Amino acid sequence: MKYFMELIFEKSRPGKKGYKLPKLDVERVEPEEIIPEEYVRKELDFPEVSQLEVVRHYTKLSHLNYAVDTTMVPLGSCTMKYNPRVNEELVNRKEFLELHPFIPEEYIQPVLELIYRFKELLKELGGFAEVSLQPAAGAHGELLGLLLIRAYHDDKGNKEKNVILIPDSAHGTNPATAAICGFEIKVIKSNKDGELDFEDFKRKLNDKVAGLMITNPNTLGIFERKIKEIAHELHKIDALLYMDGANFNALVGKFKPGVWGVDIMHFNLHKTFSTPHGGGGPGAGPVGVSEKLKQYLPVPHIDFDGKKYFLNWNIPKSVGKVLGFWGHFSVWLKAFAYILTYGNEIGKISEYAVLNARYLKYLLQGVFKDPYPQSPCMHEFVLSAVNLIKHGVKAGDVAKRILDYGFYAPTMYFPLIVREALMIEPTETEGPDTLRTFAQVLRRIVKEAKEKPEILKKAPHNTPVKRIKEAEANRNLILKYKDILERKKS
Ligand SMILES: *Cc1c(COP(=O)(O)O)cnc(C)c1O
Repeated sequence: MKYFMELIFEKSRPGKKGYKLPKLDVERVEPEEIIPEEYVRKELDFPEVSQLEVVRHYTKLSHLNYAVDTTMVPLGSCTMKYNPRVNEELVNRKEFLELHPFIPEEYIQPVLELIYRFKELLKELGGFAEVSLQPAAGAHGELLGLLLIRAYHDDKGNKEKNVILIPDSAHGTNPATAAICGFEIKVIKSNKDGELDFEDFKRKLNDKVAGLMITNPNTLGIFERKIKEIAHELHKIDALLYMDGANFNALVGKFKPGVWGVDIMHFNLHKTFSTPHGGGGPGAGPVGVSEKLKQYLPVPHIDFDGKKYFLNWNIPKSVGKVLGFWGHFSVWLKAFAYILTYGNEIGKISEYAVLNARYLKYLLQGVFKDPYPQSPCMHEFVLSAVNLIKHGVKAGDVAKRILDYGFYAPTMYFPLIVREALMIEPTETEGPDTLRTFAQVLRRIVKEAKEKPEILKKAPHNTPVKRIKEAEANRNLILKYKDILERKKS
């Protein structure tokens, strides 16, 4: 905190040069003149309630939520860890909140310096030649990544390259992104160890291949041991290696994907480096690249010319801009603070994340089927509830029942290659007691499934909303209070 404050207060204090903001010459307009007649409220029909009643109402509502503040959220692949409050305090300081995106560069040198230094740190952590902070989320980083692959091959005249290889364990955003960018997708099988099948990969490798998207550790929580060979094979035919960095929590401070030969990787700052998520953002998905892709990165790039920091628009081969203004500054700032808080101990994040996942997996031995018993897990693991099918119970029923015991449920039915999948990621911020309690809950639920399966079929029982028809809830969205009233009447 001190570091930030010094930088902001000492260096940005309006002084010698003065803080001359451009004078605005805008005439004030009365709201009635711009709001269409039908939207202007004629009468107020607010209920007569006291402030206390309002506070109680909203406090009670807030307690109906499942959140990391109240319980473990073991959603695999999402990395729902605790994020220190101090970082929120930092970004909510007036000095940051009041920054205007059009402030001239010379007034915000310290802010640009913060951004620049943060970018340099991400480069260092990922082992990349350059990083663009612009993308708004992981999936957006994927989009930029594939635009970069496209720009690279276009520039080199590799016209035949239009295939992206994707393993069958991939997150849905990978093929979706490749498809949106107009690539043809070829799926690569996973082998019995839960890793990308190297032989299948080699069979599908030909001159049409533009690149491969891989997640490491993959979505089974298993480390792709052949990552360097994969990079080598791709580079032999001038194809590129994209790494989905959503699982970087398993690697941070220990491995640098750039060193493996990864050409492009997105960081999910909201998963790995502070910023709570799950409520819809904002997040941030900076993209790191190898030397050969630097020249295609989005503008403006934040640069330093030895004297001052500036927004560099002069990147002739750039793919252009992928987000309005600069990007999600507050998310960068939280991530920067988070990383600095760990300093050289940053590897503790991944050490404890892996340790917790392995401990929990050990506690759950024999409770569910382990689809890849020979492969040790990294920061998360996938179990299969197929052993309960004979009792008429599915993974989804287990997940619902978990809510009754006060925990949030794991990710279900993903990755697609594991039947009745439950994907569990405890993160490094949970303590051993919580992990033991969670394991006990799962043991108890499996016992219930065998003895009284109907309890699970109707779960959850203790939540404010009982079991919903998921398909219908997805198709007939009820998003307004009035719709609820309508529904109640009918
Ligand atoms: C979360 C996730 C993404 C997408 O990231 P967002 O930030 O949610 O857009 C992509 N791949 C994997 C493996 C993920 O877990």
